[in-house]
Amino acid sequence: MFNKWIEIYSSIVDNPQNVENLTCPNCKKKGTIDYYFIPYTPNNNLGSVYIWCAACKKGIYLDRVGIPVNAKKIVDESINLNDVIPAFTKITPD
Ligand SMILES: [Zn+2]
Repeated sequence: MFNKWIEIYSSIVDNPQNVENLTCPNCKKKGTIDYYFIPYTPNNNLGSVYIWCAACKKGIYLDRVGIPVNAKKIVDESINLNDVIPAFTKITPD
């Protein structure tokens, strides 16, 4: 299952604007995937990413990833991540 989420990550990297066309690997719903990249510093193109499904509340967290241009990012350190990223169950490698 983790590999399916890595495919979702790859799709987001390829086309960050196309996320509404992705299908959740867990619940198979379409248009429920959301994500945010968190750069290490505001202009850094490296950081971490949260990817989750709003329907089944499952997803992944990856660290040390490249941040594509045009991807949704949280750079304002005053933003509480819990306000914009829902609690979800993190799928880990098998
Ligand atoms: Zn789902």
